[in-house]
Order: sequence, then C-alpha cells, then structure tokens
Amino acid sequence: MYDFPDQRGHFGPYGGVFVSETLMYALEELKETYAKFQHDPEFIAEFNSELKHFVGRPSPIYHAKRWSDEIGGAQIYFKREDLNHTGAHKINNVIGQALLAKRMGKPRIIAETGAGQHGVATATICARFGLECIIYMGSVDVERQAQNIYRMRLLGATVVPVESGSKTLKDALNEAMRDWVTNVENTFYIIGTVAGPHPYPAMVRDFQSVIGTECITQMPEMTGRQPDYVLACVGGGSNAMGIFYPYINYPDVKLIGVEAAGDGIATGRHAAALCAGTPGVLHGNRTYLIQDANGQIMETHSVSAGLDYPGVGPEHAWLKDINRAQYTAVTDDDALEAFHNCCRIEGIIPALETSHAIAYACQLAKTLPKDQTILVNLSGRGDKDMHTVAQHTKVKL
Ligand SMILES: *Cc1c(COP(=O)(O)O)cnc(C)c1O
Repeated sequence: MYDFPDQRGHFGPYGGVFVSETLMYALEELKETYAKFQHDPEFIAEFNSELKHFVGRPSPIYHAKRWSDEIGGAQIYFKREDLNHTGAHKINNVIGQALLAKRMGKPRIIAETGAGQHGVATATICARFGLECIIYMGSVDVERQAQNIYRMRLLGATVVPVESGSKTLKDALNEAMRDWVTNVENTFYIIGTVAGPHPYPAMVRDFQSVIGTECITQMPEMTGRQPDYVLACVGGGSNAMGIFYPYINYPDVKLIGVEAAGDGIATGRHAAALCAGTPGVLHGNRTYLIQDANGQIMETHSVSAGLDYPGVGPEHAWLKDINRAQYTAVTDDDALEAFHNCCRIEGIIPALETSHAIAYACQLAKTLPKDQTILVNLSGRGDKDMHTVAQHTKVKL
C-alpha cells in the first residue's frame, strides 16, 4: 500500500521543509489545521458541494473516437477538466485551500502566479467567499499577460507587479513568501501546484485527487474496466498527481507524465526537470530541478507558460525513482501539431499545456492494439492560448 509522504513531508529523499525559521510557525499551523479538517465530514461535504455547484463537477470522460479511429491503434479518452468553471483543474485546489483559510479565520489571501492562471483561479474563489486577494506577479509577466491581469482585477483582486530579480515567477514567489512571514496572523498563502514545503505537496494532491477518484468510477462505466494508461502533462505536477494518485494502487494501470521538451532536450531550451534535471532544493522542497553544475537555476523554455517552471512536485520525483510512473517530454512543435489536430478532429480546443499530453497519447496509441485504452487528463481549455498559437502559426489576429 502506497503511503506517502511521511509525517515530516518526505517522499523518500524528496519533499520536506526547507524554509527559514520565520516560516516554520505558519507551516506548522497549516499542517495541524489540514490534519484536523482533512477527514472532517462537514469540511468534506462543503468542499464537495462547492465542486458540484460552483465548478460543475463531476467532469465527464469523453471518447475521442474519430481521432482514435484515424490513428488506428489504442482508444483515447479525455477527462474533461477543461469544462470546469474557469476552464482548468486549478479551481479544485484553490477551493480546498480557501475553505481552510475560512476555518483558520484568515480573511486575507495571497498567491503568486506566472502565466496568471493560478492568479485567476485564486481571485475567483476569493470573490466567491468574500476574501481579500493579493496576487504577486513579476512585472515582465504582468506585461505579457494583460488579459489575465484584467480578469483578476474584475474579480476584485489586487495585482502587485514585482520589480526585483528577473521580474518573473521566482521573484513573485519570493515576494509572496516575504508577505506571508510579515502578515501570517491574518494571511493564508494559496500555492497553485504540488510543490513548496510540506504540507502543500500532499494537500494540493489530495484536493486535486477528485479527478482520479471520479475516473475510477467513470472508466468502468464507459469501457467495462480501468484504463491501460493514464497520461497527464507535468508543469509543477498538480493535474498529473490529481489523476495519478487514486490509480497508484492499481498496479496494472501505467502512469505517464509528459513534460515540456521546448525546442528539444538536446538544445538545453526546455522545461523537463524529471527527464533532464538533477535533484536539488528549490521553493522549500527537495526535488528534480533544471540547474547548472553549481546548483544555479537555469532559464527554462516552453511554448506553454504553465509548463515553464524549473522544478517539479517532489512526489513525481519519488514516483520516478520507484518506477511507479514514467516521464517523457514533448517538443513545442509536436504539442502545437496535437493542438491543431484536437481542434479539427474532436472539436475541442485544448490548452497548450494539455496538448503535450495529447501529443504523447497519439504517439503511444499508434504502437498499441485497438483494445487498449489511454486516458488523458485534459487539464484545461485553450482559449487563453489564442495569441500564442496564432503567433506560432504566423497568423495575425
Ligand atoms: C497550470 C496548468 C498546468 C500545469 O500545472 P500542473 O500543476 O502541472 O498541473 C497544466 N495545464 C493547465 C491547463 C494549466 O492551467
């Protein structure tokens, strides 16, 4: 029976709590609160009610039949997280954390965001629950993501551009940490993926595991059995852990995470921490990182902003080491090709992040017989990516 992390947040040699002493109190408080409410029937009922009435869960599973027929191999199925309110899986997790914030009596929420998707999800739930919302974002990212900034402001959030360092995600993260230390009495820090110090990786995984739990009932209803393969794209790794976790104790189900190979692993311009990185410490936990020989974090690249992160959640590092999940990577070009095919053949515009997982599903399906099934977590819709796709296709909007 798989039972990780341990009491101190370790997934084997990964995870843990690598933070300054000033943050230890806040993390202890969060750990105790989560332990208290995690199995509380009233908390679970409220979480499920929000997922049903605000998010629209359960999300359906869809058989991509036309595409599967065209490929002529395994049958491909999509878990439709793109149909959630706000268009992706991120909302599942922010609801869980916001409910904890309410129970802790903390009316002020902070978060950091790179592409803006986690910022929008957080601003959404703060509006829903009447919580104050401050979003830290590198000033370079603020320039690049004008639409998401406007969304957050419409939802009532304050967006704080961060001018230090490279003015991107890691600088926004440092700023959010500083804010948290200073205002811990009334402030809850909502992290958007399965990374950060314990208890975040386990807590975010638990909130997202509603995805896989639904699949475990839905797949037998649709196909008579569990899938042979479960695939998901991996940035920080939250949509992947959400669909993988409930399947870990089904040894016949193969789990495959798909990272961003950018221009190709060999070019060095990628974001594939598990496929091409080495273990180290970043953002409060030990995990695989894209770093140089001196342990300096290197610049990453991906066409999808949501996969463009130099680390990965520590549980994925562990699943890789114990060989329970496999990890592979897909280039920008292959992801874009899968994006266009998915639009044309299935009538679904997927997020560019998701398109990485879809691209690998197609490659894999070709090698398998027709009675095998591949379940892909369709983590989000692609409306946010129109500009990027048009630019790469040399179309002027
Ligand atoms: C943010 C995002 C991702 C990447 O984050 P994970 O934590 O790896 O899931 C993937 N897909 C979509 C649609 C996203 O918005």
